Amino acid sequence: MLTDTIQSSRRGSRSTTDGSRGAAAFLAKLDRLGIDGLEDLLFALPLRYEDETRLIPIGAMTPGQTGMIQATIELTEIRYAPRRQLICRIADGTGFLNLRFFHFHEIQRQALQRGKWIRAFGTCREGPLGHELIHPRYQVFHSERLPPLRDRLTPVYAKRDGISSKRTAGLVDSALALLRSGQLALVDRLPRPLMTDSTRSDLIDALENIHRPPPEASAEHLSEWLAPFRQRLALEELLAHALSLQKIRNEWIASRSYPIRIEPDDLNRFVTSLPWQMTHAQIRVWQEIKRDLERSIPMLRLLQGDVGSGKTVLAALTAFVTIRNQGQAAVMAPTELLIHQHVQTFTRWLAPHNIPVRSLHSHLTRKERRELLEELAHGLPCVVLGTQSLFQSDVEFPNLMTIVIDEQHRFGVAQRLNLADKGIQRPHQLIMTATPIPRTLAMSLYAGLDQSRLDELPPGRIPVVTVALPESRRPELMDRLGSLCRGGQQVFWVCPRVEDAEGSSGRAVETALHELHRALPDLRIGMIHGRLATEARQRIVADFQEGQIDILVATTIVEVGVDIPRANVMVIDGAERLGLLQLHQLRGRVGRGTQSGQCLLVYGPLSPEAQARLDILRKTTDGFLIAERDLEIRGPGELWGTRQSGGLAFRIADLYRDRALLARIPQAIRLVQEQYPESVEPLMQRWLGESLRYGQA
Ligand code: ADP
Ligand code: MG
Repeated sequence: MLTDTIQSSRRGSRSTTDGSRGAAAFLAKLDRLGIDGLEDLLFALPLRYEDETRLIPIGAMTPGQTGMIQATIELTEIRYAPRRQLICRIADGTGFLNLRFFHFHEIQRQALQRGKWIRAFGTCREGPLGHELIHPRYQVFHSERLPPLRDRLTPVYAKRDGISSKRTAGLVDSALALLRSGQLALVDRLPRPLMTDSTRSDLIDALENIHRPPPEASAEHLSEWLAPFRQRLALEELLAHALSLQKIRNEWIASRSYPIRIEPDDLNRFVTSLPWQMTHAQIRVWQEIKRDLERSIPMLRLLQGDVGSGKTVLAALTAFVTIRNQGQAAVMAPTELLIHQHVQTFTRWLAPHNIPVRSLHSHLTRKERRELLEELAHGLPCVVLGTQSLFQSDVEFPNLMTIVIDEQHRFGVAQRLNLADKGIQRPHQLIMTATPIPRTLAMSLYAGLDQSRLDELPPGRIPVVTVALPESRRPELMDRLGSLCRGGQQVFWVCPRVEDAEGSSGRAVETALHELHRALPDLRIGMIHGRLATEARQRIVADFQEGQIDILVATTIVEVGVDIPRANVMVIDGAERLGLLQLHQLRGRVGRGTQSGQCLLVYGPLSPEAQARLDILRKTTDGFLIAERDLEIRGPGELWGTRQSGGLAFRIADLYRDRALLARIPQAIRLVQEQYPESVEPLMQRWLGESLRYGQA
């Protein structure tokens, strides 16, 4: 009965049949906020946690440490050093510390009055005036009688349309209370036989612990504490993904495609017009793709290849033969930046063969967009590039024969595969990813897909030289960059984007820009970050490509696929904050030309795990090896590793950490399908709801 209430509320209708008004009101509220029911709320898990259950004495706080302090305000003043900033000096009897704000309001300055009490939460840094917290979260109190501290770790959630992390936490609390009191219910969808020791945990227990870990779980014990709950949810999530792949695969096999005829001489002319010879691996993978394309069952192939292994040409070959068969080829990539880059490459390679290259992007004028959509709807044989906007409902491709999805790890496979789920005649699909996954894991995870690997880099690549530098050696670094740039080199300067509880970012980029301008006034420095309009971003990248900019300061945006062979130096500022795979992918942006590339990792205070990460990067450039080592050195605080390191789009499962669970998936699928068929759809809905719905749009 209760289940029915919840199920129907997912579809937007509100039912109060069981008389629980509180529950109905709560669900109505979720509905108003645009959250699609209880599961949509509860299965969006925290990104990480902050510990506000205890105070750290200022005197005991070390650089790199994050936590809450309680103190009195001694002095608040505005300084120009050289930028306008607000400094608030506080003390707690064990020592003093500065709070530093670059962005602030006058009201804020007035509130930080001498003698007032304050609680501040942030990460301690070594500043010019001693230890400091930059832009901490804080609260000012008028008397010494401060409210009690929290009794649970504070979850940090990804911001969703207009709903802050704090608000989400409040909603989750209400939902958990309603579940505990029985006013709302959730069905446990994990079949009993799958609950072995490591995964045995009641669903509500698991959710409660994941969303609101008790203080006993703090810091060093967090991962141990959460292990059984996490494992249980991870198994469920992996199962849901595998089930949806299976479903798609079954539909795929039952459908028909457009068998593509390939004319060897014509193809040869194209291949010989490329600026270089294809590698053996590229040729082998092309043979695999070609065989699929010629069949009347649609292709469903995953191509894995490390950054720089040369995947783009396979997309171009696929597009070439499609258009020669009078078909339309869609190429999808995760960012407009990447689309822009692909447009240039595809035009260079394909236009001489009279193949129209089009792109659907956000700064087309209304008229341009209408004209393009008309061309497409009339079935013009062409290759069209775009982000997921390609699959908006007003875009029609009557002749769509092939789809290539680039840098898939940003999306999640299942989500994208669904997009092609229109009509009986289905396009061939090629999914390209740079996430290195050991072969055995890939076999379990992508059981339904055919797989290819590009396991050879184009010739002449000289391995990138990787150097790690402590912050204190910044002046030396600046000198080195200065002489490199004056010698004609171009540099990427990447600042990791760190989402804090308020979801802010971009400040690090501005600070770095400022610092570079000051140290190297004669160089041309550009900046891109997520808040810049797409057009502005593309202009800056184009300038960089043309050599008009010496140093490009960026957030991790550049991680995805940007190929600028002339930029041969990569600085990662704050390398200790990134995961191994993400560092590896960033580094893959350089060393693409004929000269040896350099990767300079600038680090602040290091945890032992961060130290190990930097060591590995200095020693190897092999993506698969790095992926393996990544698993071994995850620290206790690094719970959801793959997500942080730019891995696949899972909410809780972690391919490396959960490889034992992954091995159980094929069997688990059979069990669910044979004995619990009624759970199949709800499981997929629970973990992939958003993308499944999207797919149907
Ligand atoms: P990926 O998308 O796999 O990261 P790209 O397709 O962007 O890699 O290729 C990386 C760089 O290597 C590009 O500059 C590309 O032109 C070049 N490249 C690709 N294949 C070859 C090859 N066979 N020989 C020489 N250079 C190549
Ligand atoms: Mg690429």
